[in-house]
Parts: sequence; C-alpha cells; structure tokens
Amino acid sequence: MVRPAVGGGPYAGRVPARPSPAVRRAATGEESPVARTRRARRIAAALYDRYPYAHCELDFDSPLQLLVATVLSAQTTDVMVNSVTPTLFGRWPTAAALASADRAEMEAVLKPTGFFRAKTNSVITLAQAIVERFEGEVPARMEDLVTLPGVGRKTANVVLGNAFGVPGITVDTHVGRLARRWGWTQETDPVKVEKDIAALIPRRDWTMLSHVVIFHGRRTCFARKPACGACPVTRWCPAFGEGETDPDTARRLLKFELAPGAVLPDPPPGPLPDET
Ligand code: SF4
Repeated sequence: MVRPAVGGGPYAGRVPARPSPAVRRAATGEESPVARTRRARRIAAALYDRYPYAHCELDFDSPLQLLVATVLSAQTTDVMVNSVTPTLFGRWPTAAALASADRAEMEAVLKPTGFFRAKTNSVITLAQAIVERFEGEVPARMEDLVTLPGVGRKTANVVLGNAFGVPGITVDTHVGRLARRWGWTQETDPVKVEKDIAALIPRRDWTMLSHVVIFHGRRTCFARKPACGACPVTRWCPAFGEGETDPDTARRLLKFELAPGAVLPDPPPGPLPDET
C-alpha cells in the first residue's frame, strides 16, 4: 500500500510498496514460469505507464541512417552520435556515397564519437556490403541484416523494430542487466537473454519493451545505485532495496526528464490480491 512519508517533490506523501515474499522467491529461482510471466508483464505495464514517450534515442530518417547510427553508438552516448550524424548524412546521404567516402574526411566527422578510425572503417565496409549485396537498400529481414559486417542481433533488432516496424528485443547493457535483476533470466549471453524475455512478453510489445527498459535503466534503475524509492515496479522486483529506498533521497537520483521538480505520473496502484 502507499503510505505517508515526509518530504516534498513529486513523490511527497508516498513510500514504495515492497515486494511480497512470493516476489522475493523469484531471486532464488523458485518461481513458477506462470508466476514469472505474470510478474514480467506487470513490470512491463508499469514501465509503459512511467515512460509512455519512450523511443529510440538515436535520431534517424531512414533505415540506413539508423543502422549507421547504431554502429556508431558503440562506446559512446546516443547524444554524442546525434551530434555528428546530421553532418555525416548531409555529406554522404546514401549507402553508395558512404561506401566511396574519403576516409580522412569521414574520420574528421566521426572523431567526437571516439574510436573514429575503426568506426569510419565499419561505416564504409558496411555501406559497401549494402551496395554490393542489397542494391544500396538496408534489408528488412533479420537473416539478411546479420550477414552485414559489424551487425549482430542487437543492432538488427534496433533497425527492425524502429525502422521497419518488425517487433524486436534489443538486448543492450541495460536490458540484460535489468532482466537479470528482475529474475527474467539467469543468462549473460545476449541471444539467450533475448530468448528468455521473448518467452515472457507478447511479441507485439517487444520493441516498446526494449525502449522502456532502456529508459528505466538510464533514468531510475542504475547499475550501482538504483533509485528504488522512486521506482514504479518495486512490488514486483526481487532486487528492491539494492539501491536507495527513501523516496525523497531516491528521487534526487533520477536523471533526465525525471529530475527533481519534474511532474511524474501517478504511482502504480496498490498490491494485487494474488501477490502474497
Ligand atoms: S530501481 Fe530498485 S526496485 Fe526499481 S527495478 Fe531497479 S532494483 Fe528494482
């Protein structure tokens, strides 16, 4: 139940509901598949409510732009990638143009993203493969995408889900980390994590699920000090308490649009009868 707490801000008057013993059993692997599925879908629903605006944070206007931006996002932030892609795609707007780009010129454009020589090589090689094997168009099938140099299932799912409308689960660092924290999987291999999540969440929701989990990992459920006291999934999370549980202290940890002073959605409803 939501109980009174002292303090101001968007979580004033609230303390988070704690997970039931049944939910805590999820951490020990004693949870049934049915219970895990039900709990996963409640976490997902709470995250859709918290981040209804979640989206791919890379800017793009075409599948090619998203594919290249995703390749560039390795070891840097989406914000940094977005700062260079307008120049990149303005100068080389097609796969053919990227494939025949002057290497030194592209390196200068990509320098702020780090590893710019390797990334320049990746972009040119990728563009050449798209020109030579797919007539300059990014293919819309997983089995084709993963044959492109530097493109694995994670990148392919980003492109399929966001540029082609094909549901895909993007197992990046946040999705893998939170899936393990929630007991959705015990795996560390991204392909196995993807398979475990796919068994819990309806296929039509896979792309949005990826967005909201990534948003949650970036804004609330941090690796080192998650803001448990300002989290909408506390009652279904076996890891509740790994981070700050005091609501007022926790909300000060929130990042980006959930920073102190932001207007948050109402907290999720009280515990459901079948959760004890
Ligand atoms: S912030 Fe805390 S309660 Fe929320 S998902 Fe992360 S570990 Fe669980």
